[in-house]
Amino acid sequence: MIRNFSIEKNVPLGPLTTLGVGGEADHFLSATSEEAILFGFDFARENNLDVFVLGGGSNVLISDEGFRGLVIKVDLLGRAFDRLDENTFNLICAAGESWDDVVEEAIRRDLQGIECLSGIPGSVGGTPVQNVGAYGQEVSETIHSVRCLDRSTGKIVDLSNGQCGFSYRKSIFNTTAKEKFVVLSVNFRLNIAGKPKIVYADLQKHFDERIPTLRETRDAVLAIRAAKSMVIDLNDPNSRSAGSFFKNPIVTLEFLNQLDVELRKSGRLKFEEVVPSFRIDDSHAKIAAAWLIERAGFHKGFRKGNAGISANHSLALINCGNAGAAEIVALKEEIQESVNREFGISLEPEPIFVGF
Ligand SMILES: Cc1cc2nc3c(=O)[nH]c(=O)nc-3n(C[C@H](O)[C@H](O)[C@H](O)COP(=O)(O)OP(=O)(O)OC[C@H]3O[C@@H](n4cnc5c(N)ncnc54)[C@H](O)[C@@H]3O)c2cc1C
Repeated sequence: MIRNFSIEKNVPLGPLTTLGVGGEADHFLSATSEEAILFGFDFARENNLDVFVLGGGSNVLISDEGFRGLVIKVDLLGRAFDRLDENTFNLICAAGESWDDVVEEAIRRDLQGIECLSGIPGSVGGTPVQNVGAYGQEVSETIHSVRCLDRSTGKIVDLSNGQCGFSYRKSIFNTTAKEKFVVLSVNFRLNIAGKPKIVYADLQKHFDERIPTLRETRDAVLAIRAAKSMVIDLNDPNSRSAGSFFKNPIVTLEFLNQLDVELRKSGRLKFEEVVPSFRIDDSHAKIAAAWLIERAGFHKGFRKGNAGISANHSLALINCGNAGAAEIVALKEEIQESVNREFGISLEPEPIFVGF
C-alpha cells in the first residue's frame, strides 16, 4: 500500500534553480523515496495535473507564471561503490545525489572516468538527460545503465547505455522519450587508477604535456571553470546562470566553407582569422557559439534590463538582480535573431523551458 506523502501548495520555483527566476508551482513534492515518486504520479492522475520532474534546477528556465501542475523534485539519495574486477569499479548512485560530490568521491577513491566533469552543478539524475559534457569528456563514456520509472506504464526499467541514445547534449531523455522516464539511479563504470583524460586544449596547455594525477585534473578543471564563472558561487554574480545557454551549432563542412568565404568577402573575417570550429566527423563541424554571439555584437558583461551576459563567459545568460523569466527570454531572442541575421545560423537553447 502506498503511503500518503505531503504535497505542498504554491511553492516558489526560482530559489530551486541556479538562474533564480520564475513563478510558483501549484503543487510540489520533494520525493525522497521511489514510493513518494509513485505517490506523486498517482496524485497527479487523480487530480488531472501535468507533472514536471525537477533535479538540481541548473538547466531550467521557469516561466514567470510558474507551473500549473505538480513539480516532483527528485531527492533520492544513496551511493554504492563496489569493486567489479581488478580494473573496474561499479558505482550505483541515486538520482538526487549532487553530481559534483560524486565526482569528488570518485577522485578520492582514485577512480577515473568523470574527472573532467568536475564542477558541473545539478543532480546525478540530470546527467544522462543531456549527456553532460565538458573539457573533452561526456558522462555517456562511463554510464553503464540507467534505472528509470516509465511514466506511461508505472514500471521500473533498466536502460543500457546503448538504449539511452547518447550524442552531443542529447539522449532519448531529452529527444524521442522526452518526459517518458524519471531517472531513479545511474550505474557508472569507473577505471581503477586510470590516467586522466587530457584532450581539451585548455587542459593540455595547463599541464604543458605532463600527465597529471586525477586530483590535479579536478583542481585544474575547477580553477578553469571558476575563472569563467562556471561553478556556482554565491559570491560570484556571474555564476547566476543555467550554464551555457546555447549549444554549439553543428553545421556541414560545406556550410562552414561557404561561411568562411562570405565572411572574408565582406571583411568580417580578417586574413589571419578562422571561424572557431571543431570537426566532429567527415562531413560536420561544431562552431563555437560563444564566438558567433560575440561577433554578432554581444560582448561579455552585456546587459539588457535585469538580464545579461556573464562578464566571464559569453555563452552564459545571467540574472543580474531581480530578472523575470521574460527578460531572460527577451535577451535570448535578441541574441538568436542577431546571430541568425549575421551568420544564417539558428542557435538552439540548452536549458529546458518550464511553464511557457
Ligand atoms: C554554472 C553552470 C555550469 C554548467 N556547466 C555545464 C557543463 O559544463 N556541461 C553540461 O553539460 N552542463 C552544464 N550545466 C548544465 C547543468 O548543470 C546540467 O545539465 C545538469 O546535469 C542538470 O542537472 P539538474 O539536476 O540540475 O537538472 P534540472 O535542471 O533540474 O533539469 C534539467 C532537465 O533534466 C530533467 N531531469 C532532472 N532530473 C531528472 C530525473 N531524475 N529524471 C528525469 N528527468 C530529470 C528535468 O526534467 C529537465 O528536463 C551547467 C549549469 C550551470 C548553472
